[in-house]
Amino acid sequence: YALGSHMNRIRIYDPNMENSLEREWQVLSDVKAALENDEFTFYAQPQYDITTRKIVGAEALVRWIHYGKLISPGVFIPVLEKNGSITPLDQVVWTKVVEWLKSWITKGYHPVPISINISRLDILTIDVPNFLINLTDTYQVPRKYLKCEITESAYAEDGQRVIDTVKRLQAAGFQLMMDDFGSGYSSLNTLKSMDVDVLKIDMCFLEMSAEEEQKGIGILESVVNMARLLGIPIVLEGVENQHHENFMRNMGCRYAQGYYYFKPLPINQLENLLADERNLDFGGMCVKQVEA
Ligand code: C2E
Ligand code: MG
Ligand code: MG
Ligand code: MG
Repeated sequence: YALGSHMNRIRIYDPNMENSLEREWQVLSDVKAALENDEFTFYAQPQYDITTRKIVGAEALVRWIHYGKLISPGVFIPVLEKNGSITPLDQVVWTKVVEWLKSWITKGYHPVPISINISRLDILTIDVPNFLINLTDTYQVPRKYLKCEITESAYAEDGQRVIDTVKRLQAAGFQLMMDDFGSGYSSLNTLKSMDVDVLKIDMCFLEMSAEEEQKGIGILESVVNMARLLGIPIVLEGVENQHHENFMRNMGCRYAQGYYYFKPLPINQLENLLADERNLDFGGMCVKQVEA
């Protein structure tokens, strides 16, 4: 499978395409070429305090720009994870994030913390804490500007390994955000095994039918109360409209990441927001929740 043989073709990956093995094979070989051609970048989606209406952080989300077309990570991340080849891509993304932080600080601005996504396969494949320590040292970027998002499901599958990695990341000064909380079955136990700095609640709670909603609200309320008792701030993912925001307020949840506030933005647009410090809150996320 020569790399060059289809580099001058634009592919459109249809996630519903039935011949999934062929599609996966195409994605994998195209990602390899795309890494060599530097076709990956990241967008950033602000994390927002609905009580102060300020930005408290942003999540870096990989984007593949292939002949001018944006290919969503939903198409290629699952394929790379299945194949075990996600790590070289993640290393590129993390490096670009830290390079960007460096350039932003050098221009004289204060960044908000940027969170990066870490796949459980990264943890199994490389020494993630070492990599991030070297990276931030090389660029002389304070570690408080980098937060690590690890999905709840990673703990279910490789518990001890993940816990050890998290402890070393935190000892080095990187905060842990537990991603997609509530979407798996490990949730409550993982909170016991480690000191989660921030909980990101999965958007599945916002996608419930009317019949499910009462139960969902009950579950979420108890998660919010538990997080308050444990002293962990909460971010709700996928807030898309006023109805969702009301839901959030009823829950006492203070921080949001969703299209209603900001879509994932190209870096120049993020910079426009960050350049005006009135948009920002440097205090980070706190435990105090919205008064119901
Ligand atoms: P995630 O880490 O849970 O990221 C949140 C996803 O929700 C993003 O999708 C974001 O665009 C989307 N989102 C945010 N607000 C809303 C909303 O209001 N409505 C809806 N419907 N969606 C919203 P995206 O960028 O397509 O990324 C999908 C997933 O791909 C991420 O889920 C993460 O698991 C993975 N991913 C993204 N970037 C990276 C990366 O650099 N490395 C790794 N390993 N995984 C990544
Ligand atoms: Mg994430
Ligand atoms: Mg998430
Ligand atoms: Mg997700």
